[in-house]
Amino acid sequence: MNLVDINTLFGTEDKCRELLVRLRWPEGPRCLRCKMPVVELETEKQLFYCKDCDYQFSVTSGTVFNDSHLPFAKWLLTTHLLCEAKKGMSACQIQRTVGMSYKTAWYLCHRIRHAMAQTDKPMLDGKVEMDTTYVGGVNRGKGRVARVDNKEVVIGIRKRNGDLRFFHAQDAKAGTLARYIREHISEDVDVIFTDDASANPVAVKKGGRGVHKTIKHSSGVYVMGDVHTNTVESAFSLLKRGITGTWHRLSAKHLAAYLEEMEFRFNRRNRPDLFLDTLRHMVTAPVLTFEKLTA
Ligand SMILES: [Zn+2]
Repeated sequence: MNLVDINTLFGTEDKCRELLVRLRWPEGPRCLRCKMPVVELETEKQLFYCKDCDYQFSVTSGTVFNDSHLPFAKWLLTTHLLCEAKKGMSACQIQRTVGMSYKTAWYLCHRIRHAMAQTDKPMLDGKVEMDTTYVGGVNRGKGRVARVDNKEVVIGIRKRNGDLRFFHAQDAKAGTLARYIREHISEDVDVIFTDDASANPVAVKKGGRGVHKTIKHSSGVYVMGDVHTNTVESAFSLLKRGITGTWHRLSAKHLAAYLEEMEFRFNRRNRPDLFLDTLRHMVTAPVLTFEKLTA
């Protein structure tokens, strides 16, 4: 689906709303409280009414759209832009391209991200690559420690030809890595590939997961048969190109949300229904208030 399709299919507020109703309740609208079928009131606000429990609500009640005064068309357009931009899009650009204040654009992007974060994340199995990278901060001084001490740690885990997981971690120590291994890599995993950083063998052992193979990046070796971490590294390079463009507005506090967005889009990059799937998440994800976001 491209911009022209979206404009043709969902060019009016009524058409946008119909789409959201269909995505939220594929079997027809149901009461948010008692789950019984509801009727639509013929009012300007287009509310639903439940005769069983005397409750009124709208298609956006209790979702990330909750209380928004922005037209649906702008919500859909922004969602489409975030889905299509492989490296993400800054709130500044949404502000200019779609037309809204910076604050509204910033909040809107965060609500879409919040919806993208509500996904099932099955344990990864098969051949799994794991690596760590550093993002943000400013390079001051020389040497590895000076380079990384004001940066944020991102752990990437990716199943070969499969899903990616990104995490904003506290540090890259063996104990931390082991925790992510236990929580996200299946006990049945065939093999875990990492580079030869000293924390890795300890982490895999502590994580209690099968075979571990390392590639000696320290000796300048990047591929040895099927031993490499290139597929997780290609995801890192996409992430870094995205962050370079937005980091001046991206604080460590919101890095995890940004990683969720990158991961969501990456794992669905070949799906033709990416736009509709994202909207489906948005009409089922819980409310994210501005107060909570900025607390
Ligand atoms: Zn009810």
